[in-house]
Amino acid sequence: MSQTLPTVGHFIDGQNVTLEGRSQEVWNPATGVAEKRVLLADKKTVEAAIASAEKAFPAWRDTPPLKRARVMSKLKVLLEANAEKIAAMLTAEHGKVQGDAMGEVQRGIENVEYASYATELLKGEHSRNVGPGIDAWTEHQALGVCAGITPFNFPAMVPLWMWPMAVVCGNTFVLKPSERDPSSTLFITQLAMEAGLPPGVLNLVNGDKEAVDTLLHDARIKAVSFVGSTPIAEYIYAEGCKTGKRVQALGGAKNHAVVMPDADIDNAVSALMGAAYGSCGERCMAIPIVVAVGDATADAVVAGLKTEIAKMKVGPGTDAKNDMGPLVTKPHFEKVKGYVEQGVKEGAQLVVDGRGVKVAGHENGYFLGACLFDHVKPGMVVYKEEIFGPVLGVVRVKTLEEAMKLIDDHEYGNGTCIFTRDGEAARYFTDKIQVGMVGVNVPLPVPVAYHSFGGWKRSLFGDLHAYGPDAVRFYTKRKAITQRWPSAGVREGAVFSFPSTK
Ligand code: NAD
Repeated sequence: MSQTLPTVGHFIDGQNVTLEGRSQEVWNPATGVAEKRVLLADKKTVEAAIASAEKAFPAWRDTPPLKRARVMSKLKVLLEANAEKIAAMLTAEHGKVQGDAMGEVQRGIENVEYASYATELLKGEHSRNVGPGIDAWTEHQALGVCAGITPFNFPAMVPLWMWPMAVVCGNTFVLKPSERDPSSTLFITQLAMEAGLPPGVLNLVNGDKEAVDTLLHDARIKAVSFVGSTPIAEYIYAEGCKTGKRVQALGGAKNHAVVMPDADIDNAVSALMGAAYGSCGERCMAIPIVVAVGDATADAVVAGLKTEIAKMKVGPGTDAKNDMGPLVTKPHFEKVKGYVEQGVKEGAQLVVDGRGVKVAGHENGYFLGACLFDHVKPGMVVYKEEIFGPVLGVVRVKTLEEAMKLIDDHEYGNGTCIFTRDGEAARYFTDKIQVGMVGVNVPLPVPVAYHSFGGWKRSLFGDLHAYGPDAVRFYTKRKAITQRWPSAGVREGAVFSFPSTK
């Protein structure tokens, strides 16, 4: 590997750290060229980050919450001023098109904005006179050092789901972002220092399993937030719980969109195009499966999708004309193509084959055109597994109940949606479906920053969802205090019965 490539290092104790050691290349997926290398932290480096966060904790915990929150107000302004620069970093390493990258940055900013007024949520509860002359209250106390481990597909936004709320709650933090597209995450961490976070409050270590395992097994880490694939989420949850940490681990997905016979098909098709192929299908809330109720509905949806796919522009994310960029890495590109082959072998009907797509001047980029399968069956691998690419499958069913049973039987339960004009069907669906985030004529029902985000079943391990009000519950422990000041000089006898108000 060329040692002359620019290096993406760590950020520990308020300093950029570029110690030599293991590293790997960071590729531009539109060109297939390695443009940077990222350091992979060893145990000692991660321990230095934890030590810095532990040292910073007492003073930061005792800093008035409003002062902690004010850093987020400043960070919001800095993020807005640098939004295009961050979006360009996302396009260069993840591959997503500029408009999509700007959307990611904006969603991240909204989490910082929410954290800037989280003092409102830290107020606790107070009750006067719960007994004679006795007052009681509960307060939210910081946990200590928290850790975040994040995926490649939202390298700017997902870390902002975590650490802004954690630090406003009084914790300090060690972040381990994805090693595949690390630049935007490091840059935002540096901006947070510029906004006024003291050294050690937020540390970043780049790395792989070695770094993650060090975080999981270090007793100084009190809580771990994870977002990534289900096998790793399950591992993080099990290992973290073993060592007594609080863990929330968000995993993978296979989100189904139900299209009812009465739906506005043209609008449903437009919505499905963005939800299936936006960001090359590399979103945990993407729609990779359409469940069409009735053959006529399926025929209309497939015909509409075919027409719209023909108009799609695939190419580098730097060109604003393009709708879809490349997949993130060569191995992922090969894996997604393998799923398309698998679907054909299993007997699904490949209506649109994106494997032949060529982008002039970007012959080594990881471009795959939109793929569309019809007649996908629940037993097929392409139905069961998360593909995380621009591959949409249509399953044909006869009734809404049949569609809902498919969804409920699937191992994942992150998001789903229904396209219909029937309020009764929509209400039944939202009420009964076993999925954490549900849309009605909304294909990507990603909750806004002041609601929390989380799936059900094997899409989330743990109790509390990410960001929003749940973040305060996750990043604090509640303490209940009961207080009485007896009047001076009043002699009180011992009471042996259990205290009650009777
Ligand atoms: P991933 O699971 O491969 O990696 C996530 C993080 O775990 C990275 O920081 C990585 O370095 C680390 N990691 C990877 N292998 C590890 C191992 N063996 N031991 C310890 N740590 C390890 O996920 P990804 O490919 O970066 O991201 C895509 C996945 O994330 C998809 O499955 C997607 O659905 C999911 N995702 C879920 C949500 C959600 O909110 N539920 C959001 C975004 C992405």
